[in-house]
Amino acid sequence: MTFKELNIIEPILKAIEEKGYNMPTPIQEKAIPVALAGKDVLGCAQTGTGKTASFAIPIIQLLQNSKEDAKRKGIKALILTPTRELALQISECIDDYAKYTRVRHGVMFGGVKQGSQVNMLQRGIDILVATPGRLLDLMSQGYVHLDQVKYFVLDEADRMLDMGFIHDIKRIVPKLPKEKQTLFFSATMPAAIVSLTKTLLRTPVRIDITPESPTVEAIEQFVYYVEKAEKGHLLISLLQQAKNQSVLVFSRTKHSADRIVRVLTKAGIGSQAIHGNKSQAARQLALGNFKSGKTRVMVATDIAARGIDINELPLVINYDLPDVPETYVHRIGRTGRAGNTGKALTFCSREEVQLVNNIQRLTGKKLREAELSAKTVVRTLVS
Ligand code: AMP
Repeated sequence: MTFKELNIIEPILKAIEEKGYNMPTPIQEKAIPVALAGKDVLGCAQTGTGKTASFAIPIIQLLQNSKEDAKRKGIKALILTPTRELALQISECIDDYAKYTRVRHGVMFGGVKQGSQVNMLQRGIDILVATPGRLLDLMSQGYVHLDQVKYFVLDEADRMLDMGFIHDIKRIVPKLPKEKQTLFFSATMPAAIVSLTKTLLRTPVRIDITPESPTVEAIEQFVYYVEKAEKGHLLISLLQQAKNQSVLVFSRTKHSADRIVRVLTKAGIGSQAIHGNKSQAARQLALGNFKSGKTRVMVATDIAARGIDINELPLVINYDLPDVPETYVHRIGRTGRAGNTGKALTFCSREEVQLVNNIQRLTGKKLREAELSAKTVVRTLVS
């Protein structure tokens, strides 16, 4: 299957080609025709599956093809997403996919001054990507009107729920026209989400994509059994071996992330931490530096890293093991994306062995035990 066979229009095809996408991912293959046909979608899929393009491309195409929409002022598509990082990533994708169309879009999220977001609204946009809090805020100030919305996307609905946004969503939805197309995405479908889908969707087409197994299959997974105190040396030694590769290191706490950065800095390895204590600007800067290759190593906590989209990341290192085995799958899903292979290395101390067992039970795959190199062992002995 090609994008052309999905009946994507030429200006978008050209943009996709420039992005280097050769063929649609499974969710794109399933969701794009349904969305283009004007039907509601209930997508059970998570970040890393190509979900963003599966809703962004059809919306851009429907807007570009509609002469009536071209004349009409006002926001015609609303994409709600839980975090600023995700909002920015979606907006960047739309930047790329829509660059040869006349479709205009904008993004809004909290934690920054509202001035430029208000200006953007006043200039006029077709698609708005927003986090719920700031959207409600600007709605109540009279800057945002949703009465022209024809396409509504709710992204990462389960996270919205986890983050306590459900009431915000329930306040936003009544402001949307009754007659609209809704595309609803959630990685999991707990009861509260199922009941939300019932109020929001009209005879939706359900699309289930479970990336866990295929993603995990494409990733080489190793475990290093090391004592807690040895982890710093092991990390330095592995990063030195990995030379110029970009590496994402996961730590369980903000504290530990900062400590790892200090240890790496001492060893002359450039790294940055990304976690909830950092300001939005600092997180954006760290992410930008990492994406551009300016910083080779990024150390992240799970909360900060969830949903971060980094292309073709070759190596993920779990400095600490997560308490919940599903988090491990999320973490290593940063590598081996969209058909690429990747490597995931996990440091396991004596106290963490049970956590490795839980992961193996969940994924049905045994982590290969890596040999500690002589260099690392010697360093450990002398320290
Ligand atoms: P998402 O699930 O939307 O966060 O997408 C995950 C990653 O896959 C992003 O880096 C996209 O740029 C990339 N991607 C999306 N669709 C394709 C495709 N058809 N071919 C290759 N890469 C893709």
